[in-house]
Amino acid sequence: MRSVGLRWGRSKVLVSLILVMAASLTAQSIRLHVDLVDAPRNIYHAHLQIPAHAGEMRLVFPKWIPGNHRPSGPIGALTGVHTEAAGHALVWQRDDIDMYEFHVNVPAGVDTLDVSLDAITTLDSAGGGGPAASSNILDLNWNAVLLYPQGARSDDVIFASSVTLPAGWKFGTALPVARSNGDEVEFAPVSLTTLIDSPMIAGAHYRKIELTKPGDTPVHVMDLVADAEPDLAMTSKDVAAYQKLVAETGALFGARHYRQYHFLLTLSDQVGGHGLEHHESNDSVEAERALLDPDLHMLYADLVAHEFTHSWNGKYRRPAGLATPNYQEPMIGDLLWVYEGLTQYLGTVLAARSGLWTDEQYREALAGTAAALDHRAGRTWRPLEDTARSVQTLRMMGSQWQNWRRGLDYYPEGELIWLEVDAIIRQETHGQRSLNDFCKKFHGGESGPSKVVSYTIDDVVRGLNEVTPYDWAGLLRERVAATSTHAPLGGIERGGWKLVYNDKPNLFTAAEEKLAKFGDFAYSLGFTAGEDGKLDDVIVGSPAYRSGLGPGMKLVAVNGRKWSTPVLRAALRAAQGSGQPIELLVENAQFFKTYSVAYQGGEKNPHLERVSAQADILGDILKPLTH
Ligand SMILES: [Zn+2]
Repeated sequence: MRSVGLRWGRSKVLVSLILVMAASLTAQSIRLHVDLVDAPRNIYHAHLQIPAHAGEMRLVFPKWIPGNHRPSGPIGALTGVHTEAAGHALVWQRDDIDMYEFHVNVPAGVDTLDVSLDAITTLDSAGGGGPAASSNILDLNWNAVLLYPQGARSDDVIFASSVTLPAGWKFGTALPVARSNGDEVEFAPVSLTTLIDSPMIAGAHYRKIELTKPGDTPVHVMDLVADAEPDLAMTSKDVAAYQKLVAETGALFGARHYRQYHFLLTLSDQVGGHGLEHHESNDSVEAERALLDPDLHMLYADLVAHEFTHSWNGKYRRPAGLATPNYQEPMIGDLLWVYEGLTQYLGTVLAARSGLWTDEQYREALAGTAAALDHRAGRTWRPLEDTARSVQTLRMMGSQWQNWRRGLDYYPEGELIWLEVDAIIRQETHGQRSLNDFCKKFHGGESGPSKVVSYTIDDVVRGLNEVTPYDWAGLLRERVAATSTHAPLGGIERGGWKLVYNDKPNLFTAAEEKLAKFGDFAYSLGFTAGEDGKLDDVIVGSPAYRSGLGPGMKLVAVNGRKWSTPVLRAALRAAQGSGQPIELLVENAQFFKTYSVAYQGGEKNPHLERVSAQADILGDILKPLTH
């Protein structure tokens, strides 16, 4: 409202003009063709034919991207913009204030404006940190290749889209296909909302896996593309687990809000990693060997379950502040601890219920999450809700001082809070009810095509009280709005487990250390170090912090010997009970200094330990709902 309001204030006449134009667009669609043959060199070429009228037209490039929850529309990557009408070039001008808005003066007698533009895709438009395309694969997010009339509601603008694929590539998308002929694909006209909600992946190596039994509706399909053909070898055990995931969501939510669902899964180390949710699909990237390597398989196992959950929690039910009428209206992220936090909880639980994780893997992941959050020093100044409101500023920040600044903590801490809510419901009702009942009521409703039903915090509290009366408003306020010294571990404790630290490696940390070759000493010395010795973060209050170490410094030697993860581990063991500090020689921007770290506690890795006097509620939570 604020971004467009500025100009609405400047010209009231223009406002009415735009509204008339936006309404008339429902009758006439925008044509969009995207030539993707240059995908391997990361540039997409688009051509639009936009219904026009004489006078000034204002066109906008999508700015606030759903699922990114921030103004991440890749405007810097928009290049090669040309506007013309009836074969004559027209001059365009960018707005003085809004970099996402373009003005074009259209002469009389013209009814179509031709716009050509290129999208440079070296920085992934789905919010990941790398390119959208590579030699053998591409990801097309339509928001990166189009303009639409300023002020229009995205539900009211109709797009008729088509693409040209690189020769021989196959594609997957939830967008309905009107016809395809070789590398030319034409899609059925849809609203701008549906278009941007329906990305397409394509590749030279493609596999389609049906996840529903023949005759079952709605249809669930997994479309896979990969860097190389052997990467696509999904085991029959995995296929069965994803089929189980589909069945489990049916039992959990009781309704589906899509015509058909596509799991768009890219297996690649060459493009940006991300998972982005949509009503009828999810666009997820896993490591190239994620289906083949057991460590990678475990690390990625909850990603698709998380993104699939969003079809209900995030897309169908959406916080009012994120349910905006178009992509120029600012989003308000205050309830992301529900949107992302509950999804994080359900995604991990569904990974276990589907058999993508064992119960032990689930508990090791949860222990890692709980430990990290219990060492977030920043919770003493920044309430969880502020990390959600600040998504615009926090998402792309690095790891340095993250424990003090806090990151996107509404994901993992939301997971802990919703586990606590689930455990309370189960305790209060003696196992008769659970968060499953809330999900069915809140996210279920009637099956049918995609729609958005927005909610406020009061709706969430009311929904929980319908499952079982409790001071939910008070509990949630305390959890999200107050500062604290420790993470909310009540769900783990009510669940019959406790967070402990010992010298046995955590399964997830061990796998990450092996793959990414870093050393995790977060809960002993207070830092993680890259293979080159660079300290990612130093936890405020930890032994390393007290000795004067800070993030960005580089470990050179441990007790006089060249640094490596095994050398530092050996030093930790040797220091136990010795009374001697650990001497760390560190390089800091060309200067060297030795820091004495007073620590004799040995290795500390997080795990969950069973409390046998209490019922294993966590075990009950992980039990599948289907057989
Ligand atoms: Zn998410």
